[in-house]
Amino acid sequence: MWNILHDELSERGYKARIMSIDHLGQLKCDIENICIEGGMSDSFSYFIQGFFDFNIPENFSDARSIIIVAVHSPSVRVFFNYKGKRIPLFIPPTYIDISSISGKIKKLLKELPDLRNYNLMKARLPEKLLAVRSGLGAYGRNNICYVPEMGSFVQLASFFSDIPCLEDNWNAVKLMDSCKNCLICSKKCPTGSIMEERIIINAEKCICHLNECVGVFPDWVDASWHNSIVGCFLCQEACPQNKDLLEQVIDMGEFSHEETELLLNKEPLEGIHASTKAKLEQLDMLVYYDCLPRNLKVLLDKAG
Ligand code: SF4
Ligand code: SF4
Repeated sequence: MWNILHDELSERGYKARIMSIDHLGQLKCDIENICIEGGMSDSFSYFIQGFFDFNIPENFSDARSIIIVAVHSPSVRVFFNYKGKRIPLFIPPTYIDISSISGKIKKLLKELPDLRNYNLMKARLPEKLLAVRSGLGAYGRNNICYVPEMGSFVQLASFFSDIPCLEDNWNAVKLMDSCKNCLICSKKCPTGSIMEERIIINAEKCICHLNECVGVFPDWVDASWHNSIVGCFLCQEACPQNKDLLEQVIDMGEFSHEETELLLNKEPLEGIHASTKAKLEQLDMLVYYDCLPRNLKVLLDKAG
């Protein structure tokens, strides 16, 4: 059954692997080890582990396998009108589920006669780690998952499934071969988060963590380092593994002067117009709404 789904996914440009559900415990241990080896504080470890749920869903006790799927995902460009200028700002790959993988794959399953009696349920698992463990990709020194032919321009999704796992994919955690003699991303990282001597970055110093959380940026963060509406693209942009992908950018909307001012002025979400809200929803930015005034201000002032 898996071969049928795998081939159908490949035809549509997805890459996928299946693993036994028995690896859930090992995945949990991996994340705990990453927190320890990465020298994370207790509060940050708790924060990281809170993203995931390693339990088999109660309403899916027949789940037998875990499926990880990768699809190419470009960077996104959004225009903001501010102080008489039309300013392009960017969101790195992986933040926006442009292709809505989850819905498409569930639909595909139901369209395939041999598979329509099987089920998929979206999982909340560490997808970069799962992709590396499954052999779908490998870690870069910047802790981002790289998939062959897709570089780090990848959206990942994981699922619990009752499809039997006859071909278990479980591998050692692996750094890309091309990282062995390369320190480009480490030199490019302005916060010093990427270290030569270990695979795990100092995630607490990474700009992605700093601008995905609310609050004032720490004093040691230079305004010139910010580069994305959320997240940070500097190490991926510098990585030779992405050099043929960098021009792949899709435009996803524009915010007028009035809309930009509302966002900068911390207008409560209930107070913004439905059309502005719809734009933010399309960008998957509602979850970062409280961070946007601070993040946009620093980028727009820099551009201005
Ligand atoms: S820049 Fe070099 S070390 Fe960093 S992820 Fe890319 S190949 Fe690996
Ligand atoms: S995302 Fe930015 S801050 Fe984080 S490791 Fe890469 S370059 Fe450094």
